[in-house]
Amino acid sequence: MTSPTPYDAVIVGSGPNGLAAAIALARAGRSVLVLEGAETVGGGLRSAALTLPGFLHDSCAAFHPLGVASPFWRGLPLAEHGLRWIHPPAAVAHPFDDGTAVVVERDVAATAAQLGRDAGAYQRLMGPLVRAWERLVRDVLGPLRLPRYPLATLRFGLAALWPATALTRTVFREEPARAVLAGMAGHAIMPLTWPATAAFGLVLGLLAHAVGWPIVAGGSQRFADALASYLRSLGGAIVTGHPVRSPADLPPARAILFDVTPRQLLAIVGERLPPGYRRRLARYRYGPGVCKVDLALDGPIPWRASACARAGAVHVGGTLAEIAEAERAVWQGAHPERPFLILGQQSLFDPTRAPDGKHTVWVYAHVPHGSTVDMTDRILAQIERFAPGFQSRILAVHTRTAADMAAYNPNFVGGDINGGVQDLRQLFTRPVAARNPYATPARGIYLCSASTPPGGGVHGMCGYWAARTVLGRMG
Ligand SMILES: Cc1cc2nc3c(=O)[nH]c(=O)nc-3n(C[C@H](O)[C@H](O)[C@H](O)COP(=O)(O)OP(=O)(O)OC[C@H]3O[C@@H](n4cnc5c(N)ncnc54)[C@H](O)[C@@H]3O)c2cc1C
Repeated sequence: MTSPTPYDAVIVGSGPNGLAAAIALARAGRSVLVLEGAETVGGGLRSAALTLPGFLHDSCAAFHPLGVASPFWRGLPLAEHGLRWIHPPAAVAHPFDDGTAVVVERDVAATAAQLGRDAGAYQRLMGPLVRAWERLVRDVLGPLRLPRYPLATLRFGLAALWPATALTRTVFREEPARAVLAGMAGHAIMPLTWPATAAFGLVLGLLAHAVGWPIVAGGSQRFADALASYLRSLGGAIVTGHPVRSPADLPPARAILFDVTPRQLLAIVGERLPPGYRRRLARYRYGPGVCKVDLALDGPIPWRASACARAGAVHVGGTLAEIAEAERAVWQGAHPERPFLILGQQSLFDPTRAPDGKHTVWVYAHVPHGSTVDMTDRILAQIERFAPGFQSRILAVHTRTAADMAAYNPNFVGGDINGGVQDLRQLFTRPVAARNPYATPARGIYLCSASTPPGGGVHGMCGYWAARTVLGRMG
């Protein structure tokens, strides 16, 4: 860890944003060291044998529409470092109680064709956004600034600023289309009646068509490993098993970039920050958590709607009203009896995830912040509702409550997987409202985690923008 001369930059945390920041700095010729508290790199981008030998599970992130669309990562030679995407035939399926399902296909028209009287409305909503996806992603995955592509961004913004419930009820007349958009918007982890929750649904929906929702061959850990390998090839160093608890744990460096959330930043270097900034950081808001279940199965999920087997991800929660109710309840401190689930069936498309004929399931439900409630039974019952006989295929179960998630990764405060609430107020003003959200007032101390714009997800853009700030100041 020691170096004869100070590093240009030390990065605390090897999540996707920490690694992205380190790579951006190393590509600019800077000397960098990444210090990771856990024994393996990756943060929310890891995989492990959580159930039985031979079964491989994504511990956190599984689907990578943001990863393939990331303007920074798209330009990196990660395939040379072992990253291989697997594209399931369709991104997402959404089953209903009557045994039908809508499958979000890559093709907008093929998806619309399943939506009855809403086919035209779906095409009019999604078509222009999908055609403008590259421009939109550049504006959406950046800090708050004047859009580089005002026309595309304005068109997106007019729809995105709506609450998801209002947008779906205004644009669509029937349940299937409404439920599909609600399922996409459910990733916001907010009541769907809140402004701008439509944005999450629209971004994830347009990416499903534009780039797909790929998984990583061999598990998400391979993505983190590819980033780490590329960083090392650029001369960057990584030390794992090195939690940073105080400035004494840091070697000399011109810049320290923290891939942590505001609460941890305060605990580690609070004394170096001015009192006013400390108070503002202390007001940073964290959101609900997740209860995550990983399963080893004796066979694939027996969906009543067999088309669900075409999709990598399945949104399990029924109608718009049901999903909206479940998400509202979580914010009121309740654990829904019928939770909205985000489910992954990676082993259908990646044979490395399970022994021959066997399968894995990756699934989570939103729960109140800091929850210690084990939602396994409710999660399994909700899947069984759309796949009768499913529970008889379970070989092993591994559950992490929201409190367990926080213990697994200190960035998941209270089980919040987005590094803080992403409502309209805090999406672009994370960690505080400032001209440059990545720089703290203390010289040489920066934040580069999902607690900065553009927020949660595996896209690396928080790290990239933080590195750009550092490079700008180093001259
Ligand atoms: C169950 C689950 C499912 C998800 N699904 C998806 C998905 O499908 N697609 C998607 O795009 N996103 C998904 N996410 C979100 C995604 O994982 C996060 O948004 C992303 O990992 C945030 O990246 P980060 O670099 O900001 O922080 P993290 O990935 O959390 O990394 C932070 C790193 O810093 C380390 N660290 C923290 N404090 C210290 C310290 N003091 N000293 C040293 N090291 C420290 C941690 O150990 C960790 O490795 C999911 C998350 C979870 C939990």
